[in-house]
Amino acid sequence: MTAPASLAEFTDPARCPRLVVKVGSSLLVARDGVRRAWIEALVAELAAARARGQDVIVVSSGAIALGAGRLGLDKGGRGSLADAQAAAAVGQIALSGLWAELLAAHGVTAAQMLLTLDDLEDRRRYLNVTATLARLLDCGAVPVINENDSVATHEIRFGDNDRLAARVAQAARASAVLLLSDVDGLYDRHPSEEGAALLPVVHGLTPEIHAMANGHSGSGLGSGGMTSKLQAADIAGLAGISLAIASGLHDAPIARATEQGIGTLFLPRARRGARKAWLGGRLRLKGAVAVDAGAAAALGRGSSLLAKGVTAIEGAFERGDAVAIREPEGRVIAHGLAEYDAADCTRLVGTHSSEQAAILGYAPRSAIVHRDQLVLL
Ligand code: GLU
Repeated sequence: MTAPASLAEFTDPARCPRLVVKVGSSLLVARDGVRRAWIEALVAELAAARARGQDVIVVSSGAIALGAGRLGLDKGGRGSLADAQAAAAVGQIALSGLWAELLAAHGVTAAQMLLTLDDLEDRRRYLNVTATLARLLDCGAVPVINENDSVATHEIRFGDNDRLAARVAQAARASAVLLLSDVDGLYDRHPSEEGAALLPVVHGLTPEIHAMANGHSGSGLGSGGMTSKLQAADIAGLAGISLAIASGLHDAPIARATEQGIGTLFLPRARRGARKAWLGGRLRLKGAVAVDAGAAAALGRGSSLLAKGVTAIEGAFERGDAVAIREPEGRVIAHGLAEYDAADCTRLVGTHSSEQAAILGYAPRSAIVHRDQLVLL
C-alpha cells in the first residue's frame, strides 16, 4: 500500500487509491439547517475523485447539530447525553438521506454505516467492519459513516469523528484521510494571534506539535478541536496513512487543499502490518504495565517484555487484553497483548523466568508481552 507524500498526491489515484474524507459539523449544518449547496459542491468533488479511480469513504458529522435544530434543543444538542442522542437520531436520518440523494445524482450509491468505539476496538468486530467496507468499495458504493450517537454512551463513544475517521481509514486500508474543518490546518500558535503561521507539513508528533494544538472546537458545533485531530494524525501515522487537515470554508475544498497546497499534512511513519496498526491505534486499554529503563530500551531493540523489567501492574485485565506499556517517566511507549491476567502479572513483577513456575504453579510463558503482540508507539 502507498500513502501520498504531498497534498497534491491526495488526488492521484496511484499515490492515493483510497481516500477517507471527514466533514465537520460546522461545514454541513448552519443555524437554519443543512448547507445543501456546499454539500452538493463537495459531492461533485467526491464523484470526480471516483471518476479518477479513487475509492472514497465519507465520515460525516453533523447529526447532532442538525437534529438539535429540528428538535429545538439548546447548546447545539450537546447539553446532555440524552439531548445529544435524541438530536442524533433525528439528524442522522436526514443527513444520510441527503448524502444518498446527492451522491445518486452522480450515479453513485451511498451506504450508511454507524459505528461505536467497540466496533473498532474488539478485534473480531473490527475485522467485520473491515470486511463490510471492503465489500462496499468493491461494489462501487461510497460508505458514509458516522458514530452511532443515538445509542453510544460515554464509555463506548469516540466522541469525535476525527479519531473515528482515522480508525475507519485503518480498517479500510486507506491511503489517506482528509479532515475538512473550519480551520486551514495546524498553526504554530493560536490562529487568532498575530504572526501565527500555518504548518504545511508535520513529520512526527512531537510534544512541541501537541503544544500548538488547543482543545477547543472553534465553531461550538462539533466536538473535535485540534487535539482530537492530532490524535487522529497519530492513529493514522502509526498505520502508515497520511492525514491532512484543510479548511472546508470554501467551495471545492478538496481542490483548494490539493491544488493550492493550503492545509497541514501529517506524514505517516513506516506502514506496519494490519494487525499491529490495529493494536497501536487502540483507544481503550484494559490496564498498564510499568517497566524499568532497561526493559524500555530492550523493547526499543525489538525484544519481548520480560517480567524481570516490570515494576508495576495497573488495571484489571485478562490474558489477551490490550495493555499500555509505560517507561519510568510515565510515557506510554508501546501497546501489547498481555500473556497473563493482571493477577498473575502482578505475582511475576520483577521475577526471573527460573522462579516463575514455582510462583504460578504452572509452566510460565516466555514473556509478559511477546514481541509479536507488541507495537512501539
Ligand atoms: N458524531 C457527531 C455528529 O454526527 C459529530 C462528532 C464530531 O463533532 O466530531 O453530530
